[in-house]
Amino acid sequence: MGKAILFSAPSGCGKTTIIRELMQYFDCFDFSISATSRQPREGERDGVDYYFLSHDDFKRRVAAGDFLEWEEVYQGTCYGTLKSEVDRIWDAGRVIVFDVDVNGGHSIKRWFGTDALSIFVMPPSVEVLEQRLRSRGTDSEESIRKRLARSARELEEAPQFDVTIVNDDLQRAVQETRTVIEKFLNE
Ligand code: ADP
Ligand code: 5GP
Repeated sequence: MGKAILFSAPSGCGKTTIIRELMQYFDCFDFSISATSRQPREGERDGVDYYFLSHDDFKRRVAAGDFLEWEEVYQGTCYGTLKSEVDRIWDAGRVIVFDVDVNGGHSIKRWFGTDALSIFVMPPSVEVLEQRLRSRGTDSEESIRKRLARSARELEEAPQFDVTIVNDDLQRAVQETRTVIEKFLNE
């Protein structure tokens, strides 16, 4: 077994932004590309940001036992971690980086135990989270409402993660995350 870093938070808290910064710093990181049945956003690429599957193909792969965990995160939209991603990354001797919702975070942490560091990315406030989802400019009003509706319950689960990082000032949040990851990797 190798090691894994797991990021969870409600959508819009800044996981993708923080992970992008960290990938430039940690050469050993490789991102676990999730599968999803949602449509790509502008600029997102199949096999880079996600494996974009139709709903039927997603369900076929669930039935085939291809997922380590999967979740219908929003009604009608599924996301899941493929077992093949774990093999791909660990076979190459690298550290896996996961970006999953809070339930997925609990499943992965249970699976990997102390081999995974679980990090919860906290927004400075719910108001700022809403502003960020709007300013990202990638989601419809309906999609933003779905994300906000789910966020309140997800935020309550922060204490169950190994570390909570408040993403107010981005550079400070990235620095703090780097410090906890370096400690974990050197343990
Ligand atoms: P997630 O991956 O958790 O859904 P994103 O990384 O897409 O969130 O971030 C949501 C939006 O908030 C993006 O437009 C991003 O540029 C912005 N953002 C992220 N972190 C910060 C920050 N510390 N300060 C201001 N804006 C931020
Ligand atoms: P988005 O549509 O904003 O890319 O992602 C929506 C939510 O789905 C985010 O909270 C993200 O972390 C989560 N997510 C992405 N991939 C996975 C996955 O493989 N499994 C689970 N459980 N959630 C995921």
